[in-house]
Amino acid sequence: MNILVTGGAGYIGSHTLVELYKAGHTAVVVDNLCNSNPESLRRVEAILNDEIGNSNPTDIKFKIPFYRTDIRDREGLEHLFAEHRFDACIHFAGLKAVGESVQKPWEYYENNISGTLVLLDVMRRHCCKNIIFSSSATVYGDPAEIPITERCSKGLCTNPYGWTKSMLEQVLVDIQKADPEWNVVLLRYFNPVGAHPSGRIGENPNGIPNNLMPYITQVAVGKRPQLGIFGNDYPTPDGTGVRDFIHVVDLAAAHVAALQCFAPDFEYRNANFIYNIGTGNGYSVLDMVNAFVRVNGVPVPYTIMPRRPGDIATCYCDPSKAKTELGWRAKFGIEDMVRDSWRWQRQNPEGYPDGDGL
Ligand code: NAD
Ligand code: UDP
Repeated sequence: MNILVTGGAGYIGSHTLVELYKAGHTAVVVDNLCNSNPESLRRVEAILNDEIGNSNPTDIKFKIPFYRTDIRDREGLEHLFAEHRFDACIHFAGLKAVGESVQKPWEYYENNISGTLVLLDVMRRHCCKNIIFSSSATVYGDPAEIPITERCSKGLCTNPYGWTKSMLEQVLVDIQKADPEWNVVLLRYFNPVGAHPSGRIGENPNGIPNNLMPYITQVAVGKRPQLGIFGNDYPTPDGTGVRDFIHVVDLAAAHVAALQCFAPDFEYRNANFIYNIGTGNGYSVLDMVNAFVRVNGVPVPYTIMPRRPGDIATCYCDPSKAKTELGWRAKFGIEDMVRDSWRWQRQNPEGYPDGDGL
């Protein structure tokens, strides 16, 4: 298939490009680079050349078409659709910083919701009605059951970012109901961590990381003095928060598996296409820190801080629906996650170098 990948220069998008090409698909990337660096795309091409290019007798050099375009820019998207025919879109583009979304709700609703509405309109005008949407476990709010299945009802989000995900899920479901030519897949990611095993691509947060793993790696590499652990008095085995951390390469592979939903003879055609994408294992914040120190042999000093507002104690999923229907399951464990996160950070202490754009 030829896939439009919005937000393809970002963390999850870049890893998904690798898995798409390895599975024989092709892609076109649209990204406005508001939270990414085009160097990620060059590195994806380098990985592909090493992993599959050299085994090809004609020594194909991979070049991923890239458009530096904002998904709110209708003319820009029209131009893209005039030049390419797409079988499906994997829609990653969006702003994702929880704290920032509380400070700038209008910007988050405008970027994520208006952007997606423009994208969907251009897609339908060009008869491309297959979409995989990056949703999040955050739509469950404080979950009514653990492990969380897809039957669990959605909950109250604690921030505007989460609401954009929840609202966009509803928009997509309603559009599909009104026009059954649409195929909508909602992938609810749990906690993506890790990096490509080559260490060439990974998570490259701007400023102070919000998320646990990039904070740990920045402490380990000496960029920050210590990790703050937000609360050790939760009702969990060691008192720290428990999450379903998933290796980003497994998450990327889930998108490739989800493309099956678009086949007319897909066995679960009449089911809804909502999938939890996690490992099904809950690890605590201290489990992650201890595994990181043990596997990588580097110290990660930490201090216990007050709970972070909006955090819940425990969140992990039952991923069996994705296994049964898509044949997908996570293959990497906690040791792979901490080892690959560290390899990326160690090899790229400052993230991607500032480039000159593409
Ligand atoms: P990321 O910020 O690395 O990637 C998102 C990409 O979208 C960036 O390259 C950014 O430049 C681009 N972008 C943002 N707004 C755009 C716009 N208006 N037009 C064009 N490009 C735009 O984030 P990520 O971690 O790779 O996340 C990808 C998707 O997965 C996001 O939608 C995010 O909300 C969702 N998600 C992420 C996580 C996580 O923990 N990383 C968890 C659940 C869901
Ligand atoms: N966390 C922490 N210190 C940090 C960042 C996160 O203790 O600097 C904890 C957080 O309280 C939660 C877990 O790590 O229990 C995962 O948080 P993250 O922000 O990575 O993902 P979330 O589950 O909130 O989406």
